[in-house]
This record gives sequence, C-alpha cells and structure tokens, in this order.
Amino acid sequence: MEKITRLVGVEWNVGRTGIIAPRGVLEPVQIDGATITYATLHNPADITRRDLRLGDHVMVHRAGDVIPRIEAPVAHLRTGDEQPIVFPEVCPRCGSAIDTGQERWRCEQGRNCHLVASLSYAAGRDQLDIEGLGATRVVQLVEAGLVTDLADLFALTREQLLELERMGATSTDNLLAAIDTARTRPLSRVLCALGVRGTGRSMSRRIARHFATMDHIRAADAEALQQVEGIGSEKAPSIVAELAELSELIDRLAAAGVNMTEPGATPPPAADAGDTAGTTEAADAPDAGPLAGMTVVVTGAMTGPLASLSRNQMNELVERAGGRSSSSVSRKTTLVVAGEGAGSKRAKAEELGIRLATPDEFALLVADHLD
Ligand SMILES: [Zn+2]
Repeated sequence: MEKITRLVGVEWNVGRTGIIAPRGVLEPVQIDGATITYATLHNPADITRRDLRLGDHVMVHRAGDVIPRIEAPVAHLRTGDEQPIVFPEVCPRCGSAIDTGQERWRCEQGRNCHLVASLSYAAGRDQLDIEGLGATRVVQLVEAGLVTDLADLFALTREQLLELERMGATSTDNLLAAIDTARTRPLSRVLCALGVRGTGRSMSRRIARHFATMDHIRAADAEALQQVEGIGSEKAPSIVAELAELSELIDRLAAAGVNMTEPGATPPPAADAGDTAGTTEAADAPDAGPLAGMTVVVTGAMTGPLASLSRNQMNELVERAGGRSSSSVSRKTTLVVAGEGAGSKRAKAEELGIRLATPDEFALLVADHLD
C-alpha cells in the first residue's frame, strides 16, 4: 500500500553499534488501517540522492508489518517553501565525531557511544557535577578501557590517570578531588545520574525527598512509587524494572562510598505499620521548612548569597526548604523569586497578584537551608 503525506521532520537515532540512522517524521496518514507517523529514510546519501526536503509531499510505502519507508518526493506538489534536511555534525547521542566514510554513518565511538553519553550525562553539572570530566576526557577513559560503567569512575587510581595523554599531575589530582566530591552529592543527584528513563532532575528530587534513602527507593514497588507526585501507573513499573536492572551498579556505587541519602528528608512510614493511604500521602508533603505548602518559581539572575547557584540548585534549595519548585507561573504559584532581568514570569506574577521576592529576601527566608 502506498499513500502520499508530508515529511515534517527528520530524527537521527543512534543504534547499539553506533549507526546513526535518519527517521522521517510524517504528517499522520492511514495506511491499511494503521496510523503511520514515522518512516525509514535509510541513510544521508539516500536523502541527498533523492533530493528530499522538509515539507515535501512523499510517497510512503507499507508492506505488512514492515516499517514503512519513504519512496520519493512528489516533485510537482512542491510549493517552494520546502527546506533542506540538516545532517548532524556530531553524534546526536554522545557528541563525538561521525565517521561518514560509508553510506551508513556511524558514531566514532561505535559500541561505546552509549557508555560515553551516559557517563558524560552522569558527570554533568545537574547530576554529579564532576569538574574536569567533560566529553573528551570521558572518551579518553573509555578508550583506555579504564571505565566501563559509572562505578568504575570511583575506582580510578592516580597511576592510571597519569598514564593518559595530556594528563599531568595537577589535572590528575584535580579530577580525583572532583570525583571524591561527587561521592557526597545528595541522593537526588545520584539517582538522576543513573539515567533511569522518566527520572530527570525534578522527578529525581521528588523521588529522593519522598523515600529519603536509596534502600527505601529500591524496596518500593510500583504502587509505592505512585505515591510520588507525577508518577502514574505507566511510569512506576518501568522505573522499578530499570532500578532492578541497575542493582549491581548501585551496590558498587554504594560500596565506593557514594552517598545514598537525601539530606533533610525522612523516609515514609513502613507500609506494614498499618497506615492507610491517606497518611502516607500526608507524609509526602513535608510540613517542616519555611516554604512548607508553597509553590515557588525562580526567574531572572540570582545575586547575593544565591549568585553562584544554578537554576537546578535553586530548585533543590526550594525543595530542601519544604517547598515545591515549578518553572511556570500560574494561579497555583505562591511565591516568585525574581532576580535581575526577570521578564515575562515577573510580569505574570504581578498580573496575578502573586507574592514576589528579591534573591536577597529569599536568601533570608531560606537561610537555614543554604549549604
Ligand atoms: Zn556517539
């Protein structure tokens, strides 16, 4: 069966072996009773050869359950508004160079692509914040065979690092010190660094605050996880399953001295202590802290005692102080911390009559919770 629809986008996916494959995003079209929104595009050379452009009307072919493929642009339907398809310049997953020598493009990291990407993510500012461990250094460690997963990072020795190229005594000591500091990050950061699907920065913080320790998180079943705001019946089982798969890695991280507790959080009461669901929920809302029951939005540049905090660290601070952080202003917002250059969010807060605070005023309010 063939149908004509429009090509509205191209996604570049990286496979297990590092093959970078384009996938066409289509205006949804019904073929054989199925709604088709994606189709195979083979490789960049093929796109060039057929002169496909974004916005083109394309012939989509589907045979049985095989992934549909895009046949050809329908040239006479062109309007002149079609745009060229942009090819990636670096690997879309790990940022390394791309080997374009073959028709099928491949990340130069090959099978290590995923490892490089996940280690770089774990070392990132909003996760373990390991200074000096950028993508280039990660690639070096992986290529030298020194690191095959996150836990290996914490086992690196001075001798191993000194043998690497462009790694002098000073950078070695700095990196080791940064890795050591990473051991002390709150549980929310460690959880986020694991890269479990559906647990980005703010979800990791919510989970960590709710359960307080990694042991409690790991002991939770899907039902217990759903007590955390924002985790539904679909997400909960997949988080439980992924954490179970990471079990050995988490054990090794803990053995390497990585912190597995969330400062200031108290674990939920044990499920077998005869609690009803209602009281468990109450325990989720921390009644301690100056921001208890408040939803706080931070906007603009922070100054004074808060000047060095990233937006993620500000959100962590809000939650440590008992509040909820949010990125958009609505009627549910209780307080907007408006720094220099605050624009539309500040205006909206004024319009809705929501309480505003300067960074200095806010710093006083949460003084007990500043690190
Ligand atoms: Zn890659």
